[in-house]
Amino acid sequence: MPNPKHRKSKSKTRMGRSHHALKPPSLGKCPNCGEMFLPHRACPACGFYKERQVLDLD
Ligand SMILES: [Zn+2]
Repeated sequence: MPNPKHRKSKSKTRMGRSHHALKPPSLGKCPNCGEMFLPHRACPACGFYKERQVLDLD
């Protein structure tokens, strides 16, 4: 079984963890109402996706 020969130093552990931060989600602007929305999802404000109504909002 492949096994690490030495324990990683605190420094090396922390260096690896420097890449673990989460990025804020990317947002697009709705072309219909100008609201911010998550890409590849219908706009939560007006229910539009790909320039047509896809959600039935009240
Ligand atoms: Zn919208």
